[in-house]
Amino acid sequence: MSFNDIYVGFTGSPLDRVEIARHDAEALAALANNPNALLLDMPDYLPSTENGALAWTPYTPLPPEERLLLGLIDGIPRFARIDPAAAAARRWAELMTVLDTLPAGEAGIYAAARSVLDWHARHRFCANCGAKTAPHHAGWGRLCPQCDTEHYPRTDPVVIMLAEYQDRVLVGRQPMFAPGRYSALAGFVEVGESIEEAVARELREEAGVVATSVRYIASQPWPFPSQLMVACIATVADDTITLDMAELEDAKWVSRPEVEAALRGDADAAFGAPPRYAIANSLFNAWLAGK
Ligand SMILES: [Zn+2]
Repeated sequence: MSFNDIYVGFTGSPLDRVEIARHDAEALAALANNPNALLLDMPDYLPSTENGALAWTPYTPLPPEERLLLGLIDGIPRFARIDPAAAAARRWAELMTVLDTLPAGEAGIYAAARSVLDWHARHRFCANCGAKTAPHHAGWGRLCPQCDTEHYPRTDPVVIMLAEYQDRVLVGRQPMFAPGRYSALAGFVEVGESIEEAVARELREEAGVVATSVRYIASQPWPFPSQLMVACIATVADDTITLDMAELEDAKWVSRPEVEAALRGDADAAFGAPPRYAIANSLFNAWLAGK
């Protein structure tokens, strides 16, 4: 399923999440005992792939506390394993190479599995009373045996935006970026803020530009570890940049031909574009398409 007419990485997953089966012991048992059920094996959170798709292996029934029901694809139950001893995920360089080759829908399945498994590894104890918790709801939550508090995998909204002024857009560079790479500015939505307010605040804080209107373009799950990227374009009042050097090492305005050259990967482009699976790339394409 895709709701976008531009390419957005990690979206369009074919998973039917069968949320109701997570709470229905009988339905869950039927899925877990289905002889055709498949497992997405992800040692160290790295996906196995073959021919540009995720590689699935036969599912051997796991104990309930190790079972993550991802959902159904083509009517076949799909699981991943919650490793009780797993460390939190890291972001491997080799994973980025794999993501370059995975279609968005396949990457979307991986994103869901990775974020939930990583959440289990990071949330073994109750935030309310400190007791050790255990997975429940087919791996989509954890329950505290001491105080009965339920905990659920969270997703944290992040706004990512292009400021637009007189047919140019603002791109910025963080010190951690690859040489020459520039991208859209981004930041976490804070408690008590709307998306539009977060966009305006981040643009003001990081680049000193003042948003006069904000339009929503698209969103993307981002499994490092579990953000929801909300992509917007903001019209701003003028093009004077006041850089926050703690956040950005540089920022500059780029024209349509410069964005086109960057997306093509031209050697003499004004900047290096983010990879196709990142929603910043989709955002540049949406802007070029007049959205
Ligand atoms: Zn508790």
